Amino acid sequence: MPDLLLRYSENMFKFFENLVDPYIEGPDGAPSDRLWPFVASFVKPFRLIIVLNIVTSFAVATAEVGLLYYLGRLVDLLGESTPQDFWAENKVEMMIVLAIILILRPVVQILNTALIKNTIQPNLAALGRWRSYRHVLNQPVGWFENDFAGRIANRVCQMPAACGDLLFQVMDTLSFTVAYMIGASILLASADPRLLVPLFVWLVLYCFLLRWSLRRIRPASRASSAARSRTLGFVVDSFSNIQSVKLFSHNERETEYAYDILENHRNTYAAETRIFTIIDAGLVILNGILIVSVVGWALMMWTEATATVGVVATAGALALRINSMSGWIMGSLTNFFRNLGVVSEGMESVAQPIGMLDVPNARDLKLREGAIKVDSLSHHYGRDAGGISDVSFDIKPGEKVGLVGRSGSGKSTLVKALLRLYDPEHGQILFDGVDIKTVTQASLRAQIGMVQQENSLLHRTIKENLLYGRPDATDEQVINAARQAEAHEFINELEDSEGNTGYEAKVGERGVKLSGGQRQRVALARVILKDAPILILDEATSALDSEVEAQIQNTLYGMMQGKTVVAIAHRLSTIAQMDTIIVLDKGKIVEQGSHEALIARSGLYAKLWQHQSGGFIDVETPNE
Ligand code: ATP
Ligand code: MG
Repeated sequence: MPDLLLRYSENMFKFFENLVDPYIEGPDGAPSDRLWPFVASFVKPFRLIIVLNIVTSFAVATAEVGLLYYLGRLVDLLGESTPQDFWAENKVEMMIVLAIILILRPVVQILNTALIKNTIQPNLAALGRWRSYRHVLNQPVGWFENDFAGRIANRVCQMPAACGDLLFQVMDTLSFTVAYMIGASILLASADPRLLVPLFVWLVLYCFLLRWSLRRIRPASRASSAARSRTLGFVVDSFSNIQSVKLFSHNERETEYAYDILENHRNTYAAETRIFTIIDAGLVILNGILIVSVVGWALMMWTEATATVGVVATAGALALRINSMSGWIMGSLTNFFRNLGVVSEGMESVAQPIGMLDVPNARDLKLREGAIKVDSLSHHYGRDAGGISDVSFDIKPGEKVGLVGRSGSGKSTLVKALLRLYDPEHGQILFDGVDIKTVTQASLRAQIGMVQQENSLLHRTIKENLLYGRPDATDEQVINAARQAEAHEFINELEDSEGNTGYEAKVGERGVKLSGGQRQRVALARVILKDAPILILDEATSALDSEVEAQIQNTLYGMMQGKTVVAIAHRLSTIAQMDTIIVLDKGKIVEQGSHEALIARSGLYAKLWQHQSGGFIDVETPNE
C-alpha cells in the first residue's frame, strides 16, 4: 500500500518539491555575518510557504484540541443517552465528526507535513549548499591554504541543512504550541476555570526549565559542532596524505594524534548531551506533577459533583497529551539551538566576505601586445620574511624571460602574483599598462596559460581535465594537444577501476593515478589547448625524462612563438636561450641579463650554471 502511494503520488510530490526554486539568484555580495540576517537571506524565497505552514500548523493544533474536547463531549453524550436511542439522537453530529476526522484533518495535516518535508527541507538545504558552495569557490587561493579542506567542506554541506531544520522547528513547534495552549486553556476554563491553575503553574516552571537549558545549549552545541568539523578536517587531511603517513610508518603517531582530537570531540559532545539529560529529568518530574494536579483536581470536583465524567476524561487526556507534547517541544527547541550552533559554526567559513574581489565595474582585460611590468612588488604571505621583496622588472611584448634562483627564493610566488592568485602586499603588476587589480580576475587568467609546479588534476576523466583548458575544444583538438605534449600514447593505455579507458579514464583524486611526468604532460596539453597569449611555465618539464623533455621542449619552443613567456627552471639548460634571465635570491632580484652576460658577470647565475655543467663554464648557449 505505501509502495503504491509512493508510485502514484509522484506528481503530488513534484508539485510540492517544485514550489520553490532553490537555484534562484541570491542577494549580491557576501552573506551577512550576523546570524539572523544570514538565516533570513536563505529563507527569503520560502516566505509564502512559511506563512502557509504556520496557518496549517494552527489548524492541526486546533483539530487536536478539538478531538480531546470531543472525547469529553462523547462521554457526556453517552451518559445522557441510552444504547437504543444514541444513534437516532446523534446521527448528524456523528456524520460531521466523522467527516472532520477522516477527511478534513488528514488533508490539513498532510498539507502541513508536505510543506515542511517536501518543500522546505530539501529545497532550503539545496539553496544553502548551492549558494555557499559558489560563494566559497570565489575565495582566493590563500584563504583555502589557511584552513582544512575537509572542514570547509563539512561546513558547506552541514550548515544549510541545519538552517532548514532550524527554521521548520521554530515555526512548527511555536505555532502548534501556541495554538494548542490556547485551545487547552479554553477547554479547561469552560469545564472549570480552577483547572487553569495547575496548568499555569506548570507553564511557569516549564519556562524556567526552558530558559535554563536554552542558555546552555547554544554554546555547547557550537563547541561540539566545531569539534565535529575539526575531526572531519583532520580525518580528510590524513587520508589524503596517506602516502606520507605510510612512508614514514606513522600509523601509530597518527592514531595518537587522532586520539587527542577524537577525545576532544567526545568531551565537547558529552558536555552537550549532559544538558539534554538534565532537561529530560526536569521534564518528567514536572509532567508528573501536572498529571496528578490536573486529573486530581478534576476528580475532586467530580466528587463534589461540580464536574461531569466528561470533564475528568478531557482533563486526563489533555494532561497526558501535554505530557508527551512538552517532551516534543523541548526536543524541538533543543534541536533548534543545536542547529543554531551548527549554523553559527558554519558561518565562520561560509559567511566570510570574499578575500579578493574584482573592483566595482572591473573591465575585462584585453591584451594588445602582451607587455608585463612588475613594479616594486612585495609579498610575504602576511609574515616578515619569505615570498618576494621589492621586485621590479619589465617584460617586452613577445619577450621570453627565464626565472632562476635557489629553492625558496620566491619564483613561484612571483608568477602566482602575475595570475593574481594572491594580491601582493605592496607594489603593482601591469599588463599592457593596465593594473591587473582593475580588471576581472577571470579575464586576466583567461589570457595566461600556466603549467604549475605541482599540477593536481580533478578526479574526473582525462578528457574533462584537458577540456579545462578550453571547454569548447573538439575531440580532434584535444587529441592534437595531447599528441603535442607527448601524452596521447600513455592516455590510450589508461584504464581506471571502473573499466573506462583512454580519454574516458578517471585520474584519481588530484590525479594520483598518474605518474608525476604523466600529470605534467596532461597539464601541458591543457595549456597547449588553451593557447593563451601569455605563457607561464613553472618547472613545466621537471618531472620528465630527458628524452621526453627534449621532445616537449621543441613543442614548447613552437608554442612560445609570438607569446610573452615567463619560464622557471632549475635545469638551467632548458632556459639558457631565453632573451632575458632574471635571477632571484631570498625574494630579491640579484641579477638580470642574457645567458652570456650573466656568465660573464661570474655572479650567482654563473655559479649555478657551473654546478650544473660540471665545473666547466660554458659561455656558449646549449642547443645552439
Ligand atoms: P622552489 O624552487 O622550491 O619551487 P620557489 O622559488 O618557487 O621555490 P616559493 O614557492 O615562491 O619559492 O616560496 C618562497 C617563500 O615563500 C618560501 O620561503 C616559502 O616558505 C614561502 N611561501 C610559499 N608559499 C607560501 C604560502 N602559501 N604561505 C606562506 N608562505 C609561503
Ligand atoms: Mg616554486
